[in-house]
Amino acid sequence: MCHHNLIDENSVLEVIATSSPGRPDSSAISDKIAEIRENKISRYEPLIKPEGGLTYTGFSDHDFARQLDILRSLQRLGIVREEPFDYIRKCSRCDHHGMVVKVACPVCCSTNTDQGKVIEHLACGNTDLESRFQTDEGRLVCPKCKKKLKAIGVDYVKPGSYCSCLSCKALSPEGRMQFICLNCGSSLAKEEMKLEPLAAYVIDQEAVAKYFDSTGFQFHLSIVEALRSLGIKAEHRAAVTGSSQVPHTFDIVGYSGENLEPAVAIEIEKSGEPVDPESLLNFLARCLDAKVERKIFVGVPGFSDEAKKLAGAHGIEIVESDGSNPKEIADKIASGMPERVPDQQLEQMIESMREAVEEQEIQRDEVDVESVSLEKMLRTIISSPKDEESAQEES
Ligand SMILES: [Zn+2]
Ligand SMILES: [Zn+2]
Ligand SMILES: [Zn+2]
Repeated sequence: MCHHNLIDENSVLEVIATSSPGRPDSSAISDKIAEIRENKISRYEPLIKPEGGLTYTGFSDHDFARQLDILRSLQRLGIVREEPFDYIRKCSRCDHHGMVVKVACPVCCSTNTDQGKVIEHLACGNTDLESRFQTDEGRLVCPKCKKKLKAIGVDYVKPGSYCSCLSCKALSPEGRMQFICLNCGSSLAKEEMKLEPLAAYVIDQEAVAKYFDSTGFQFHLSIVEALRSLGIKAEHRAAVTGSSQVPHTFDIVGYSGENLEPAVAIEIEKSGEPVDPESLLNFLARCLDAKVERKIFVGVPGFSDEAKKLAGAHGIEIVESDGSNPKEIADKIASGMPERVPDQQLEQMIESMREAVEEQEIQRDEVDVESVSLEKMLRTIISSPKDEESAQEES
């Protein structure tokens, strides 16, 4: 097991470049690492779901095999370290985890058995289930010799829990456990079941920090934090579901409006080369499908001339940066965002609007007030002149 904190950069690139079927794609891996950082996750542990099956903590999808794939990819990156956690038993024929336990009589193999504490009456040697010694008066009487029992340890003992067969009437100290697979119906003895070790995955926070530095995620996060400090709701590596129902992940998504709708998608590309039109086209296609109004592409350090032309033609705002000043970028993004109206202020506004509409209703009964869109009026009030300017610029 590898314990070193250093990330092999080649393996980072390899895993990120991997998108072969059956393996988690690179964005699933980087999203998971972003999530570890954002939610301060320290370990992943396997759990049995109440509805059956297994899942790791901290995963919203419930495909256990895929979760394991992601965790193992993270392990190859040195982000997590495997730790022995538990063993489970599963069906050796079909690998299913769901089992029903039956107790078979070791004498006749019937599973029509009961299990219970037994009493051995020392005076006559009768051993039987405790329930068969109990009388209606709440006393203990031997069903064989009919004598009353006196005291435990004196004239009787309780040797433990026995398996009582209802078919052959045998009483055996131990029943034979049979496990019936709920998927294929196989009946297996304990030793016939397949053992599966379950691992927990412990996160190496230092490796996560290094990953953030090497991938530029740290820079993304600093922009997100700067946006948040400006009062803008922003998420790192957030997905917006497009009209094609495909979720598109952007480096940063900024939200605005009453329902905090995705309002701006931000992509950040850091490389030695100027950003080329291809990257912009890919971003543009995702923005169009996701119906995000504002599209911002940050190039570190800059863009090719063709890329600039393309951006101008398609309303993509481009920001050139040397990658050292996240605050400056956040300010540029924020300058085009609608002013955030505090909830309380908004409520007061709605209230006064309602009153105004009601007044109108009283004054001019014949006017169809329904046609006055409260929302439309509100929007006019809330949006600052700045937005209108930038909206005009875009069109
Ligand atoms: Zn039996
Ligand atoms: Zn007896
Ligand atoms: Zn099975």
